[in-house]
Amino acid sequence: MIQKPRGTIDILPDESPVWRFIEDTARKVASNYGYGEIRFPTFEATELFMRGVGNDTDVVQKEMYTFYDRDNRSLTLRPEGTACVARSVIENSLYADSMPLRLYYLSSCFRYEKPQAGRSREFYQFGAELFGAATAVADAEIISLADAIIRNIGIKSVSLHINTLGCSDCRPRYHSRLKEYYKLNISNLCETCRDRLETNPLRILDCKNNDCVKLREGVPKTIDFLCDDCGEHFEILKRTLTKIGIDYRINTNIVRGLDYYTRTVFEFISDDIGAQGTLCGGGRYDGLIEAIGGPSTTGIGFAMGITRLILALKSSDNNIKSKYNENPLLYIASLGETASVHAVSLAEKLRAGGIFAECDIIGRSLKAQMKYADKKGAAFTLILGDNEIESGKAQLKNMRDGSQTPVDINDTDILRRLLGYDK
Ligand code: ATP
Ligand code: MG
Repeated sequence: MIQKPRGTIDILPDESPVWRFIEDTARKVASNYGYGEIRFPTFEATELFMRGVGNDTDVVQKEMYTFYDRDNRSLTLRPEGTACVARSVIENSLYADSMPLRLYYLSSCFRYEKPQAGRSREFYQFGAELFGAATAVADAEIISLADAIIRNIGIKSVSLHINTLGCSDCRPRYHSRLKEYYKLNISNLCETCRDRLETNPLRILDCKNNDCVKLREGVPKTIDFLCDDCGEHFEILKRTLTKIGIDYRINTNIVRGLDYYTRTVFEFISDDIGAQGTLCGGGRYDGLIEAIGGPSTTGIGFAMGITRLILALKSSDNNIKSKYNENPLLYIASLGETASVHAVSLAEKLRAGGIFAECDIIGRSLKAQMKYADKKGAAFTLILGDNEIESGKAQLKNMRDGSQTPVDINDTDILRRLLGYDK
């Protein structure tokens, strides 16, 4: 048997209503905030991610699916969406339109990671990006969008952690302090981080190696090295969040995994789903567009992992299945060939009116048909035999309470109402 590749998932019909519910909710909330949907290719030039995610990141160093096509071009399956959106903004000159530019996407991403609960090699993200707004109020708006999506999905026990990384003015001072700190502890760093010490010491703060995590205890904090502008930016952000009514906590350990972040970074972390608790991560990336060849444009965004949202939703709501069921199913059972033809045509007529109807198409016995209807969770059944067809009347059975109502099988309006569609 050929199996799916390690770290990938099949989303089966039973599970897909939850996915759709989450995706629809995110889409709806984002469009209320004025965000338009953008879609981009599954693979891009490898260089886009080397520049747009950063050479020193785990994503680029260890996790990318990179291959050469038949023309010997190096391509990479997108490991994230932000660099793709930024590339598209530049290529389509979207920055020339009136700013700010608000975009969202739903896309799969690919990273070669160790698969575990909440971590897979192909995973799905909802992301939003806001270009051309440099203010702290813009940061608050995008954080509020993420918060609204998580709340509208119905996830509980989530907390917002914020931090600031400073800017190109204040970061060099911080970097040298960080280097000093780690140089004193160099023997305890993992091999990758020893290399990063010279090139990009901030990445050490994001390393998942146990020894590197331990060293984080006494590490200098970005927040103590901010220039006046960055300090004020962070103050306004905190004030705005408080005014909107969004609770937050300052977590100086949050540096985010990608290289292009400046100033505000944030994560929404669930207490309910174990080690992979970060549902959503985001931050400001004012240098990104320029880093990949566009005009200087500010940006801030976030991405949330759909699988983790589902895990968190399931842990706050164990009745999730019944909540996201589709329309009530009417199952039309039939006895004999004439009735079977009639059942198909009635089902067609009902579906044309937007009703969810199924009938037997494999010539099963009545008993087997009813067993099937039960298994599919039919809300109602109709049984058609010669008598019913002749008289045009049948009994509509409500499968929940067992009650029966005589109906005219040619009157789809009445059927619609009885099935609960016109509430
Ligand atoms: P982590 O620290 O968990 O590896 P990250 O910093 O690499 O996360 P981002 O690149 O910021 O994650 O992606 C944003 C969100 O996408 C994460 O918060 C998470 O919900 C989700 N995500 C990231 N990687 C995976 C994965 N391999 N499988 C499932 N979801 C993921
Ligand atoms: Mg990661």
